[in-house]
Amino acid sequence: MEDNKGILRTEEKDIEVITRNYFMKLFESKGVGNTSHLLSGFRCTITDSMNQVLTAILKRRKFLKQLTVWGRQKGLNLMNKRMGKRGLMALKIDMSKAYDRVEWDFLQQMMAKMGFNGSWIQLIMRCINMVTYSVELDGKSGEIFMPGRGLRQGDPLSPFLFLIYSEGLSTLLKLASAEGLLRGIKASRRGPQITHLFADDFVLFGEATEEAISSRLGVKWTNNAEKYLGLPSMKSIWAAKGLLQSGLCWRVGTGWNINIEEDVWAQDDEHLLIKKIVSNPDLLKVADLIDCTNRSWKTELIKGTFSEVDAQRILQISLARLPQDDFLAWRGEPTGEYTVRSGYRLLLHGNSINNNGYNPSENRKCYKNLWKSDLPSKLKITAWRATLNYLPTLSNLRTKRLITDDVCPRCKQEVENRNHVFRDCTVSKETWNSLNFIWPVNLVDLEFMEWFTWIVSNSRMDICRSFLYTIWAIWLARNKWIH
Ligand SMILES: [Zn+2]
Repeated sequence: MEDNKGILRTEEKDIEVITRNYFMKLFESKGVGNTSHLLSGFRCTITDSMNQVLTAILKRRKFLKQLTVWGRQKGLNLMNKRMGKRGLMALKIDMSKAYDRVEWDFLQQMMAKMGFNGSWIQLIMRCINMVTYSVELDGKSGEIFMPGRGLRQGDPLSPFLFLIYSEGLSTLLKLASAEGLLRGIKASRRGPQITHLFADDFVLFGEATEEAISSRLGVKWTNNAEKYLGLPSMKSIWAAKGLLQSGLCWRVGTGWNINIEEDVWAQDDEHLLIKKIVSNPDLLKVADLIDCTNRSWKTELIKGTFSEVDAQRILQISLARLPQDDFLAWRGEPTGEYTVRSGYRLLLHGNSINNNGYNPSENRKCYKNLWKSDLPSKLKITAWRATLNYLPTLSNLRTKRLITDDVCPRCKQEVENRNHVFRDCTVSKETWNSLNFIWPVNLVDLEFMEWFTWIVSNSRMDICRSFLYTIWAIWLARNKWIH
């Protein structure tokens, strides 16, 4: 590693110092300057009664109800508008690096201006500034240092604080719009002027010409609105709201609100989602599986549509005699109540509940075969890390909020999770084909772990070896492509 004088350092101690200095500088407060203009655009939005709610202890029912409301909000469809002579622009700004640069003083000033009461602000500030960091090298922790700014990546609180912080940018844009420096766009003639949208990316709207954008801002031009708004990964924008959403599970009432394949409603320790094995386009909602005259499951239909395991999971769900609304419950804890501990666990490990294949004895056999194969240990470790979902696939990095775009860079078709890297990506498909690896058709719809377990525990040792070797080679090739 090069130090700041450009001299190459190879000693572990030096590397730790260089890395630590880098992060100390990154997390060092640069001061907030004069904030009066910006803060003048802030209205006091937090009322006394809201403050009371904040400092009160939350009732479970209220909490869940609010979550349901959030989950139902829909995206916008703006950019299909025909472009006029001047043209409309949408500028997408990557906010992922902004986390590290959040100035604590500014956040505190904003919360005060918004009207949060003092004890709440103190509580929040304590959560933020009681942080210490150290650089870990080859498993050894370096010297501890204290940051002066920044929000912790992966902390369930950070996204919400960042929302408040980014109100600052929103306010600047509103001020600029009010002062005539910026013109937003309208979705309809009578609609409000929109200058910006905010999910986990920031999208700025306005009137501008193509040349102006390219020359003044030095950014690339595209008229592909979907790509600009990140719509292919709209799903992953949901995932970012994610902590709460991914931790929720539907309790079946009427079944009208629950999508069979997209929602979590019949999960067990190993599975989250249900997949049809016989395609049937009429079956979309869980309600389609319920005989509403006598409030029972349509047993034959279910057995004919899903795998035996899935059918069993569905039929085990008891239906209330009288139809009631579907509702969302927290699945991180057995009681269905949200706790910070389970939130943290889900956030840090993603859906790790889903990591260990569904058949325990097959699972054991799989690991046994993996370790006893006489392959180099780096191969075995790569495969083992894949089974635990510890490999840094883009999807995993995104779950940990280290990146914002997790679309596979090789085929640009799908989110790059381990299913995709090792099996579904066109590049990987070609690899398996060229090696004459053919597996039963129904295997391609399985989750990675079920697929992997099935092959390693059911194949002859020589096939097992070349399978594991190929897994390693695919990962190696993928890394070379990316870096
Ligand atoms: Zn791909």
